[in-house]
Amino acid sequence: MQNPPLTDTYFTRLLAKKGQPLLIAGPCSAETEEQVLTTARGLQALGNIDLFRAGIWKPRTKPGGFEGMGSVALPWLQRVKAETGIPTTVEVATPRHVEEALAHGIDVLWIGARTTVNPFAVQDLADALAGTGVPVMVKNPVNPDVALWAGALERLERAGIHDLAAIHRGFSTFAPSRYRNAPTWMLPIELKTRFPHIPLICDPSHIGGKRDLLLPIAQKALDLDYDGLMIETHPDPDNALSDAAQQVTPARLGEILSELKYRRRSS
Ligand code: PEP
Ligand code: MN
Repeated sequence: MQNPPLTDTYFTRLLAKKGQPLLIAGPCSAETEEQVLTTARGLQALGNIDLFRAGIWKPRTKPGGFEGMGSVALPWLQRVKAETGIPTTVEVATPRHVEEALAHGIDVLWIGARTTVNPFAVQDLADALAGTGVPVMVKNPVNPDVALWAGALERLERAGIHDLAAIHRGFSTFAPSRYRNAPTWMLPIELKTRFPHIPLICDPSHIGGKRDLLLPIAQKALDLDYDGLMIETHPDPDNALSDAAQQVTPARLGEILSELKYRRRSS
């Protein structure tokens, strides 16, 4: 018989302590040390941010542009943690990323949508993550395939990784849509029925693709009892090197968060 799923995990403990949905914020990409630290200070001032995110290795659609600063940016995140006390998270797509991120004390790792689609890549990551004890968040695959998302979580669970969260960042579609990635809310709900023990976080930034959509998407997620939000923040969003249209300043994030209506949490 299989062991029952672990329900006492890094993320469930954070949730129980907070009694509110978790908030993850930070720039799409780490660009400069100053940009990273300015963002982090702005987020610290909000007083309720649980994790600082930043992309270090960026899965850009086209080659030849900005593809992330790479490991030189990892010490900037160490500085964020030392100065603000906010734990940090980066996207990892290869075992080398895992090794470098852990060597720099990154607290939580996440697997991006373009990696979740590939079972070989997910298995390599599961092998690299096994035994490290680092919590992992798994974004949905770019395509609307819940089985693939579930399969990635299962690969990690089978590798003994139980400190897991799932991130809903919307699904690529050919159909015209007001969203950058269609939310297709039924799919994450289906995932949640299969993994009720794994917290579900919404990423309104990549679903909406535009600042104006952040509030309604985040509200919908809270209405559906999501366990957290991941929202991209940048001190100068219009001049961001990636995802400029969807990023907001930390101050604007504070306004958005204050406009949200929170449900009483069911657990
Ligand atoms: C990101 O979080 O900046 C990112 C690249 O997201 P996704 O994998 O959802 O496209
Ligand atoms: Mn982004």
